[in-house]
Amino acid sequence: MIWNETIECMNRKDMRKLQSIRLKKVVEHVYHNTPFYRKKMQEMGITPDDIESVEDISKLPFTTKQDLRDNYPFGLMAVPMSEVVRLHASSGTTGKPIVVGYTRKDLSLWSESVARCLYAYGLSKEDIVQVSYGYGLFTGGLGLHDGVQKIGGTVIPMSSGNTQKQIQLMHDFGAKALACTPSYALFLAETIKDSGIPREEFQLKVGIFGAEPWTENMRKEIEEAMGIKAYDIYGLTEIAGPGVGCECEYQDGTHLWEDHFLPEIIDPETLEPLPAGQQGELVFTTITKEGMPMIRYRTRDLTSLNYETCCCGRTAVRMSRIMGRSDDMLIIRGVNVFPSQVESVILELPEFEPHYLIFVDRINNVDAFQVQVEVKPEFYSDEITKILDLKKRITDRLQSVIGLQPDVKIVEPRSIERSLGKAKRVFDNRKLV
Ligand code: ADP
Ligand code: ZN
Repeated sequence: MIWNETIECMNRKDMRKLQSIRLKKVVEHVYHNTPFYRKKMQEMGITPDDIESVEDISKLPFTTKQDLRDNYPFGLMAVPMSEVVRLHASSGTTGKPIVVGYTRKDLSLWSESVARCLYAYGLSKEDIVQVSYGYGLFTGGLGLHDGVQKIGGTVIPMSSGNTQKQIQLMHDFGAKALACTPSYALFLAETIKDSGIPREEFQLKVGIFGAEPWTENMRKEIEEAMGIKAYDIYGLTEIAGPGVGCECEYQDGTHLWEDHFLPEIIDPETLEPLPAGQQGELVFTTITKEGMPMIRYRTRDLTSLNYETCCCGRTAVRMSRIMGRSDDMLIIRGVNVFPSQVESVILELPEFEPHYLIFVDRINNVDAFQVQVEVKPEFYSDEITKILDLKKRITDRLQSVIGLQPDVKIVEPRSIERSLGKAKRVFDNRKLV
């Protein structure tokens, strides 16, 4: 099902035209209404007249999370506060929170974006959606909430936490879709299993998972554990919230709603634009937002773009799975390590649960790299040789994928704390010295 066929399946030439018109308009808007952008453009010696089409985007300055922090709270608003009808703040995964203001129109284009996602997952007004992302300043809860209402579906505004009740209501109300982080989905799956309620008694068919990186192996794990199809949803507070893009039924890349959020990929070192297909840092310009438009916002998320038409018929560009944020990358003994690589290995091995922690420290000037992973109850054993054997298998596999030997610690079932929202799995204690 396609919510907005004209836009989602628009031919590329028309899309470029539409983007160009909108880009020009937003540049004019911020130039005249946000001193921060005007000053940056003046420093670069450009005016809105220099922007004729999307080809000119590379003339514009970048915006970073630091810029949002420096202008905290309302310095980047491009409308009077009387036009701002809602505020959200990022969850602060990577430091001090930032705040974003939305006009009525901004909220409407955001829920339109989420509506497109819900249709892409095959949901409609007939369906009940349990929203288990946190409600509040975090965009997850209210973002999905407004989207479900937009398509006329029934929303269960659960928010996160209260896991027993989540299961009970999901069961009693017959929720067809569940929206939460992939890590919380794992916890819910485990709790459903423990509850003893047969899986057939649930109506759940669709998972709407995002807000944190997750691997293809994690998808398989969740799909099997819950008997559902697990779809990606992507977004970030600075740009709107969840629903900047999503997967379709082909699960072959995340479509981005580029008539609102114009994406680019740049080399994070040289800041030069990269051609389609190459992996780099994702950058967005919001070309329809009024309240707090973002010009070339550097997301730090690493991915690549594919402009080929998808089997679903949509022409909307697809991004590959996010490998992580550039600031998630650990450099351990000189080797680049992404937590997603560790996750992928752990989930390949059937003896382990999809729960893990990564600890990095510096001991006697050498980086120490420890991976803690939980063994499944049926593989847990008091026999030291069995545990040693498991440890060797996972260590060897991690070593061959990452190129670095971790110290693996196998921990008892259920000993790693479960996450209700965005999982915190990496503890780099080197920065604390
Ligand atoms: P914070 O930066 O504090 O975590 P946000 O809630 O705005 O605040 O999080 C947005 C970030 O979450 C994105 O930039 C990205 O790193 C991550 N993210 C969101 N959705 C996904 C997804 N589907 N896959 C991978 N990462 C995601
Ligand atoms: Zn598609």
